[in-house]
Amino acid sequence: MLSFERALATVREKLSEANPNPPTETLPLDRVHGRVLAEDVVADRDYPPFNRSTRDGYAVRSADVSAAPATLECVGEVRAGESFPGTTGPGQCVQIMTGAPLPTGTDAVVMIEHVRAQGSRVEVLRAVSPNENVVRQGTEAAKGRVVLPRGRRLGAGEMGLLASVGRAHIRVFLRPQVAILLTGGELVPFDAPPGSFQVRNSNAVTLAAQVVAAGGVPRPLGIAPDQKEVLRRLILEGLESDLLLLSGGISMGKYDFVGQVLSELGGEFFIQGVAMRPGKPLVFGRCGTKFFFGLPGNPVSTYVTFELFVRPAIAMLGGGQFESLTFLRARLGRPYDHTLGLTAFMPARVEVQNGEPVVDLVGWQGSGDLVGVAAANCFLVVHPQQTELAAGDWVDVLPKPA
Ligand code: AMP
Ligand code: MG
Repeated sequence: MLSFERALATVREKLSEANPNPPTETLPLDRVHGRVLAEDVVADRDYPPFNRSTRDGYAVRSADVSAAPATLECVGEVRAGESFPGTTGPGQCVQIMTGAPLPTGTDAVVMIEHVRAQGSRVEVLRAVSPNENVVRQGTEAAKGRVVLPRGRRLGAGEMGLLASVGRAHIRVFLRPQVAILLTGGELVPFDAPPGSFQVRNSNAVTLAAQVVAAGGVPRPLGIAPDQKEVLRRLILEGLESDLLLLSGGISMGKYDFVGQVLSELGGEFFIQGVAMRPGKPLVFGRCGTKFFFGLPGNPVSTYVTFELFVRPAIAMLGGGQFESLTFLRARLGRPYDHTLGLTAFMPARVEVQNGEPVVDLVGWQGSGDLVGVAAANCFLVVHPQQTELAAGDWVDVLPKPA
């Protein structure tokens, strides 16, 4: 059984070796949110394109106001979107608005709050240093510099940057198609009435939402009963997509046929079991050129193993980077005794108490308990070597994705 870290590194290595190079398409800006860039985007001009004032106030020659107070003569004004004609000489200043270009001859801005103005006479009450309240031309990005590299996922901030460099059309990678196959004879569709001992298929809904959030396109294949022939047919169908996700049927039960069917189809297994909880029976491998994950069917296990292993795999299949996990730190609220030898991810809540983040487990009944996950805002991460954790210890926390 692999350690959690080794298992995650295995996913990264196998996907890097496969070096996915998805096809691309060019789309208008309003359709690329959440997509992965297939080209480097460069600055079309200097940013900012001129020396820009960051304050409402007076543009000055800093040498005139190296000591305060100093009295200057105001010779005009400049608004955002305009420029001040002529040169500002010694002893002169120009009233300036936020976002406006500095007049020639000036090199700093004094905030309106720090002057006393009477007609054209402006008394500056504080000393001003060169470039104060100014962003110099080209300091955010010089013309031609790459501002967004190929492989970057486009969030709201990146969308705004594309707009500011004037990109109406952008080349992006096609999103990977992710087949989702649920296994289990006890499952019924969520909108059908379950028999007394049947279970609604919730994982199909969870996984489809996670695939979308990870940048993939879900291809639901429905529910496979625990029968080898049906499973084989549906797995073959799933292997036509870029990635196959299976949920359930990978444990030691008499009817857990997923592993068996995959190996009969020539599947290679890179991960069969991880020293983690939830998620211990996790399977990862390749059949032909296609990768597959067998996620344990328990809803919390499915959810957690997707976030940890499948999300970065989908990013790489979509032309993006492997996103390393980042844990945040919080103080443990109540002490916790940990079983040796496993990495645990447990639904928890982190809240700020007396100025510090404090994390506590939410009550949960184990890896079937989605109610516990819904009550959580993070997962408390406990590493194999951490056996006894005392209240107040700093611990790792994985934020729950939106
Ligand atoms: P398995 O991994 O097949 O042994 O399933 C473990 C547990 O998860 C069982 O209690 C199943 O009923 C439950 N389970 C499996 N698949 C799903 C699903 N798609 N939706 C909800 N619960 C599931
Ligand atoms: Mg099952």
